Amino acid sequence: MYAKLYTKLSLGIANNFFVKNGISSNAKKLGVSRFVAADNLADSLIVLDNLEAEGKLYSLALLGEFVNKKETAQAMTNGIIESLEYLSDHNKAGYMSIKPSQFGLGIDYELALENALAIASKAKETKAHICLDMENTPFVDGTIGLFKDLRAKGFDNVSTVLQSYLRRSLDDMKDLLEPNQNIILRIVKGAYKEDNDNAYQRQGKIEEKLLEMIYMGLEAGAKINIATHDPQIIKETSAFIRGAKLAKESYEYQMLFGVSPKAQNNIVTGGHPLRVYVPYGQDWYGYFSRRLAERPANLAFVLKGLFN
Ligand SMILES: Cc1cc2nc3c(=O)[nH]c(=O)nc-3n(C[C@H](O)[C@H](O)[C@H](O)COP(=O)(O)OP(=O)(O)OC[C@H]3O[C@@H](n4cnc5c(N)ncnc54)[C@H](O)[C@@H]3O)c2cc1C
Repeated sequence: MYAKLYTKLSLGIANNFFVKNGISSNAKKLGVSRFVAADNLADSLIVLDNLEAEGKLYSLALLGEFVNKKETAQAMTNGIIESLEYLSDHNKAGYMSIKPSQFGLGIDYELALENALAIASKAKETKAHICLDMENTPFVDGTIGLFKDLRAKGFDNVSTVLQSYLRRSLDDMKDLLEPNQNIILRIVKGAYKEDNDNAYQRQGKIEEKLLEMIYMGLEAGAKINIATHDPQIIKETSAFIRGAKLAKESYEYQMLFGVSPKAQNNIVTGGHPLRVYVPYGQDWYGYFSRRLAERPANLAFVLKGLFN
């Protein structure tokens, strides 16, 4: 209960204008680089090379979210397309995670679809995969809509995310699984501040739903990306995967850059595919504050850095 209260409080404080400005100008002192790989593409490439050398896959993510100006949404779209070209030009596997609110979903659905189509086309041209990250409740319908529209236009190089804390997610999952069993879905607990009407608040319930959704997807033949650092979930799902003798193409574990490095190595040495979510760019505030909200110890670490 206290953990959940901490998460709510810290996400609420993080949205405060003065806190945002104060924190944004202190990236180095705050230790942002623990969670954010780099602020430019060239430096991100070094991180991707290192991950590959360790037998890990990656998903590159250009930071940026909750954009409310058309020009910014266009600039973000261009930045994502540039990243896909950069990966291709450097003979790197193309795999990116993108946030619908970053390329216009908060402004207008048609604008977001137009930008998503431009990104998905570049991804197809460069043999890349894109995953539509899932944001908070106001963006869920739109994100699922974008996913369906892209698939309907033949883009099978696109996946999306469902969050087990949302009460609606099991229905969304059934809806997505029925017509297209060959889809790829990332399943997560959920990282945003959501109220009781929309989301389960109890950790036990969120974990129970997470497992239910993972098993439902795997049993339906979808590729399921199990995105968690939770040791109990990893233990239970890896036993399930072994028991069901699932091929490595049917699932991945996914973790965040800088989080639980030991668990990341254990996944690889255990013979499972692991993909690391690698955020880069300048607009790190929202992403960074969610990482702090997930773990009180992270805030203590940050405060120590600020006052030392
Ligand atoms: C690859 C990936 C993609 C994601 N995409 C989305 C998305 O699209 N939408 C969305 O809402 N959420 C997303 N998330 C975030 C997710 O919803 C959770 O907020 C986050 O993963 C923490 O939950 P957990 O399952 O790791 O379990 P927790 O119970 O939160 O954590 C389990 C253990 O992992 C470690 N840990 C977890 N978080 C941290 C941290 N920040 N710092 C240090 N240690 C930590 C701790 O040891 C902790 O005890 C994503 C997560 C991953 C791994």
